[in-house]
Amino acid sequence: MFLILAAAMLTYMGSAQASTAQTPVGTHGQLSVEGNRIVDQHGEVVSLAGASFFWSNDHWGGERFYRDDVVGYLQEDWGASIIRASMGVEDSGGYIQSPANNRRRVETLVDSALKRGLYVIIDWHSHRAEDHPEEAVAFFQEMAEQYGEHVNVIYEIYNEPLNTTSWPNDIKPYAERVIAAIREIDPNNLIVVGTPTWSQDIHLAAADPIEGFENIVYSFHFYAGTHTQWLRTRVLDAMNAGLAVMCTEWGTTIYDGGQPVQGVIQPIAKAESDRWMNFLREHQITHLNWVVNNKREGASIFNPSASPTAGTWTDDDLTESGLYVKEVVSSWHEVEYAQAAAFSPFIHWIQSYGIPATTDPEETLTEGSWSLLETYAFGKSPFAKNPTPTLKLEPNGDQFRLHLPSTRTDVRYKVLYSPGLETWEEVSAETGSGQAMDFTLNPDQPEGFFRIEISLEADPQ
Ligand code: CA
Repeated sequence: MFLILAAAMLTYMGSAQASTAQTPVGTHGQLSVEGNRIVDQHGEVVSLAGASFFWSNDHWGGERFYRDDVVGYLQEDWGASIIRASMGVEDSGGYIQSPANNRRRVETLVDSALKRGLYVIIDWHSHRAEDHPEEAVAFFQEMAEQYGEHVNVIYEIYNEPLNTTSWPNDIKPYAERVIAAIREIDPNNLIVVGTPTWSQDIHLAAADPIEGFENIVYSFHFYAGTHTQWLRTRVLDAMNAGLAVMCTEWGTTIYDGGQPVQGVIQPIAKAESDRWMNFLREHQITHLNWVVNNKREGASIFNPSASPTAGTWTDDDLTESGLYVKEVVSSWHEVEYAQAAAFSPFIHWIQSYGIPATTDPEETLTEGSWSLLETYAFGKSPFAKNPTPTLKLEPNGDQFRLHLPSTRTDVRYKVLYSPGLETWEEVSAETGSGQAMDFTLNPDQPEGFFRIEISLEADPQ
């Protein structure tokens, strides 16, 4: 029993109100590339659906939606399994000019996705990335250090190269350099590479793919009012040539995101969007809709009157495109994912231990008869310099005794117990740093799991 449950534990997201259902990340775990497919931890082809946030640039408007509650809305009301943080780079208010603000917005979305069990793309939202590879290398190495251990995270290193950008001379050398830098730190999470002509020339990548690295994915983008069967044929040819592909951005409008024509928002290209959705479904391609914003243009999912700080949104807040895409995303997944929204926002660390079955409860309390199964981190670690806090656990009569590190005074600890991961009960009071905490497990059911939750008294964000 112990070993089987231990395996189950590895995929378990550990929500405070535990459920037998799984979040997207709890279900699929580590993604990887096998041939021309993206597969999950079970080797099954996975097709995720969600939405891209707008450019993160200061004062462009879309940055106001970089909020945890917006992510929660997409998860709970849309059933999204993936989101994308589109970090503007060169243009005004982008990362080059305003690194701290843009990085913080990306972190807000990534931390939210970690907490909720969603996949998240960290997108270098650039049209000229080969002009400043040093900044991309430094940024993605920092992201890999900070988040690379989390299977949620996907790196997208070049959003949309221009039509004047060469695959062999510009994009490929840039990509090889940034990929190598990420792989020094994170050996396995997916890395997505854009293709020339705003990510429509995927055939040029298919003819000359990047070699020597695992888990590389190529992106194509389409806007249904502009791009039609010819691009679907090209994508299919690229897959048949061996590329794993992802549509990190698509729209229901023409290529410009549906700018109003003489002040009037144009209807969406519904019939062509339907054709694209059929294509993505048939070929199990992951896709993210452009765009989570309320700017007055056809591709925005929110009406201009929808407030970024509303906290909750209804269908009345959605545009024609928003309503269409909500329907697509919410019907995309055959499995229904649970939400992990029951986490306290202040929980930052969970360590889970397995206790072997034994007929003698005394035996359970022999030092070394329990083992650390898994550590989950949510958001920023309160132990930045020393990521895994040392929690010394020892038997103490018929109790466990936990010695709490005293390095932080604003950290609280709590222990919960579960016989089989269905429900968790608290077996200790919250305790502060630098103390010993004693807790007793149910003597009738000594086998099972316990976990230690570590939280900050105040959210560092
Ligand atoms: Ca990793």
